[in-house]
Amino acid sequence: MLTIHQLSLTYADGTQALRNINLQLPSGMVGLLGPNGAGKSTLMRTLACLQTPDNGDIQFANIDVRKHPMDLRKQLGYLPQYFGVYPNMSCTALLQHMAILKGINDKTQQKQQIAALLELTNLTSVANKSVATFSGGMRQRFGIAQALLGDPTLLIMDEPTAGLDPAERQRLHALLVNISQDKLILLSTHIVEDIENLCPYVALINAGQIVESGPVQRLLTCLQDRVWQSHLKPRDTQQILSENYRFGLPHYRILATQQPCPSAVPVVATLQDRYFFELSQQANPHVAG
Ligand code: ADP
Repeated sequence: MLTIHQLSLTYADGTQALRNINLQLPSGMVGLLGPNGAGKSTLMRTLACLQTPDNGDIQFANIDVRKHPMDLRKQLGYLPQYFGVYPNMSCTALLQHMAILKGINDKTQQKQQIAALLELTNLTSVANKSVATFSGGMRQRFGIAQALLGDPTLLIMDEPTAGLDPAERQRLHALLVNISQDKLILLSTHIVEDIENLCPYVALINAGQIVESGPVQRLLTCLQDRVWQSHLKPRDTQQILSENYRFGLPHYRILATQQPCPSAVPVVATLQDRYFFELSQQANPHVAG
């Protein structure tokens, strides 16, 4: 269990990136969903002890994270959104280096873990190649391999599917589901589909605030029997949750207690509907929910 209490962070230029965040996250896969600029990366970096908040407490299992960041680091795997520049080292050599930084000093243990992680992330055939020459998808898989070194109990992944092709994305989903049994995996994304596929629990963040959190099913209850889909635009455009395209043709997701237009058919509410609902509420709080 990860508990976050009244966490706030303001950047030097005055941007309030986190505003009084309170969250209790269970183990398993948890999604942190929000638009670009919402504060996801800032929250992830703060949880990974790479940034110091102005206020607040973080508790993971029995660790008071702000007082004992080194205790957390031993249990933490972190995949940042950007890795920066890669040194000109082979994939294996870089993983060995990172294993030592994580305190895995036993050579046999190091070798076994690295071989297993290369296999898991489909990098065995390029183990001796320099990471600096890797494609975006390969770098992302390398990032995942290094995050899993030491079998962490808290895995923080900032946009893990960025740059992956559809097959790599599916493979990553399968990998995360397989390893999520006895861990807390916190996954940030603006891709609702990733969370719908993977996470039974979600937190929605916007403008530095948690606007809603809980089991996905519970978040959908308030929209039940109120979402419609139509290929024609409803007259009351304030009812539109989202406008999507399929094979180049528009269709509208609409929130209404009664059929909003003759072409509208009732549909099952999705997390995407809830996400757009929250964004519209934030932008226009007066619009009835
Ligand atoms: P997200 O990951 O959801 O896209 P971020 O955490 O990156 O959001 O950013 C949250 C807010 O903080 C944004 O307004 C962003 O412009 C701002 N921000 C992020 N990093 C910095 C920084 N180093 N200095 C000043 N503002 C920043």
